[in-house]
Amino acid sequence: MRAANPSAPGTSVNPAVPFLDLWAMHRPLAAEIEATWHEVLEGSGFIGGPQVTAFEAEWASYCQTAHSVGVANGTDALVLALRALGVGAGDEVVLPANTFVATAEAVVLAGAVPRFVDVDPRTLLMTSEHVEAALTGRTAAVVAVHLYGQMCDVDALSRVCRRAGVALVEDAAQAHGATWRGRRAGSAGDVACFSFYPGKNLGALGDGGAVVTDDARLAEAIRSMADHGRRVDTKYVHDVVGTNSRLDALQAAALRVKLRHLDGWNAARRAVAQWYGEELRHLDVELVAVAPEGESVHHLAVALVPERDRLRAALAERGIATGIHYPVPCHQQVAYATFAREPLPVCEATAGELLSLPMFPTLTREQVAHVGAALRAVLATEGRRAG
Ligand SMILES: *Cc1c(COP(=O)(O)O)cnc(C)c1O
Repeated sequence: MRAANPSAPGTSVNPAVPFLDLWAMHRPLAAEIEATWHEVLEGSGFIGGPQVTAFEAEWASYCQTAHSVGVANGTDALVLALRALGVGAGDEVVLPANTFVATAEAVVLAGAVPRFVDVDPRTLLMTSEHVEAALTGRTAAVVAVHLYGQMCDVDALSRVCRRAGVALVEDAAQAHGATWRGRRAGSAGDVACFSFYPGKNLGALGDGGAVVTDDARLAEAIRSMADHGRRVDTKYVHDVVGTNSRLDALQAAALRVKLRHLDGWNAARRAVAQWYGEELRHLDVELVAVAPEGESVHHLAVALVPERDRLRAALAERGIATGIHYPVPCHQQVAYATFAREPLPVCEATAGELLSLPMFPTLTREQVAHVGAALRAVLATEGRRAG
């Protein structure tokens, strides 16, 4: 995404700040990615093959899990995980209303009913208390969404799920490499789902996804279902109704090159988050809190701000691109409102205040200072206007 107006008055000495700069991450790796892509082109194995197998092993090892299955995207990863767990018609699945719509979409596509719950006002994540209050005799699974790069309290969630006899699924699409008490995102639930959409912390050069788990039977069921329900190691033996949701070799090859840089990129994001903290210190604005037990990978730098839309427009005038994650909570989206059960006050109150500031690994201290100065200037003006 390009900044809206890089030559706005008063910004000529400062660089414009895009929301995300993928080319800055890819430029140093371009030759290496092109070389692996040429190998795939020559080998002509585009679906599956050695690049996919190698990436799956490397991703499982990175996530501290026994198995990883590459799939076509993060949404499919969630649908396949739920289906493999046996979740379907008549079942309820508990999930936060503050998430990307794909989490809810996957529950409905699996045939189950989403049971939306509220989030903690400091972290904007679902807690075990929210889950406990939403459990019913029909609950079959809980989807913990590690939103903005930070893991939910998976210790407390695991305890509640185990006691209730329901599965814990991690939606880790925004949390590649995050930890909770030293444990990696993806290794805490019964099964975990990742997206490699280009803008994620680990992104493919197109769509991609993965499911990770320690459960060999679950992994095999997902692998089969993602490949037309083929019995593993057969070609035309179909025991279940599957689908076509495979990770392709070109994406796996690019992901292998990029995975070697993920920890470095996440460390750079952490530094950017700290710089934002320094810039925002004297303003009445804070980034969403990170719990001390976790290490966030800062997929997004989300702040809660008053008069969000005016502030956003003023930043755009200064060449600073921002986002909103997400402007409408899932239970208030037209497609999902039929599943809304009760008011979710935190999700509803914060939706109008969320503002995602530029966040990517090559963001410089100077660019973050520019964002800080712009926020100070705009909020000072707003204050005078209000007073
Ligand atoms: C991106 C995302 C997904 C869906 O991933 P796709 O690869 O786009 O299908 C699911 N959940 C969350 C929280 C996401 O951010």
